[in-house]
Amino acid sequence: MDVVQFNAARGVERKVSWLNPLTLIFYAVHVAALGVFFFPFSWKWVLLAAALYVGRMFVVTAGYHRYFSHRTFTLDRVSQFLLAFLAQTSGQKGVLWWAANHREHHRHSDQETDHHSPIRDGFFWSHVGWIISQYYDSYDPKQIPDFHKYPELRFLDRFHYLCPVTLAAAITLIWGWPGLFWGFFLSTVILYHGTFTINSLCHVWGSRRFPTTDTSRNNFWLALITMGEGWHNNHHWYQHSCRQGIRWYEVDMTWYGLKALSFIGIVRNMRPFRHAPEVPAPQPQPEPAPAAP
Ligand SMILES: [Zn+2]
Ligand SMILES: [Zn+2]
Repeated sequence: MDVVQFNAARGVERKVSWLNPLTLIFYAVHVAALGVFFFPFSWKWVLLAAALYVGRMFVVTAGYHRYFSHRTFTLDRVSQFLLAFLAQTSGQKGVLWWAANHREHHRHSDQETDHHSPIRDGFFWSHVGWIISQYYDSYDPKQIPDFHKYPELRFLDRFHYLCPVTLAAAITLIWGWPGLFWGFFLSTVILYHGTFTINSLCHVWGSRRFPTTDTSRNNFWLALITMGEGWHNNHHWYQHSCRQGIRWYEVDMTWYGLKALSFIGIVRNMRPFRHAPEVPAPQPQPEPAPAAP
């Protein structure tokens, strides 16, 4: 069964590539997550899986999204490298790939050329189909010259699989086989689908505060599981803001974490929310000159 999307704007058929090597690894991680049933249950393993989910959701949203895609704060070069490494332990490919594709999403949100629009392409394609299609295997370095210029980031991006493999090996060394299946495989699968809800559900489920040109929504439940990314309508309105939950009750765990890192000087220049300054405010019109007598 092929899942095919015809992208009229690009004149191409976009197919899910069920059998490409990275896709096979993606399935294998899902199958391996079922391995948790072969070990005696213990809350210790649930806690380990949860800790690795929360820790890595933070670096996915703070790293891939708010730093590399949108530059909403600054870091020194060593911290930048570490954040890229940690984000990539999530198994969501390289930071340059992730950020370049995400910048494309903001340029073409819900248009014909969007990579993953649920209202155009359906839930499956926007959630996971576009990721396992060969059509978006690569990225255009011109989309991300500000980070592509760093050789260490190009190296990490090219060999992105080394990061999750390193994490899996470390977990196995410390906690053994049950640790690997709970802390790595199960946690990684839940992390995949938690992250992907922003592309699929967060453009259809929730409320709209701002009249953006796309269908982005704000959703409390999705903000909880993605540590703040569920305030997606706020984000589409002003994508340069480090903070996405802009009211006190809009829980944004990533922003709280970044704020804490700013107190110890690691994170700097966090950009505040502004009301879409890229849309110029209407200028007062000059009074018409009084008619000559
Ligand atoms: Zn979006
Ligand atoms: Zn974004």
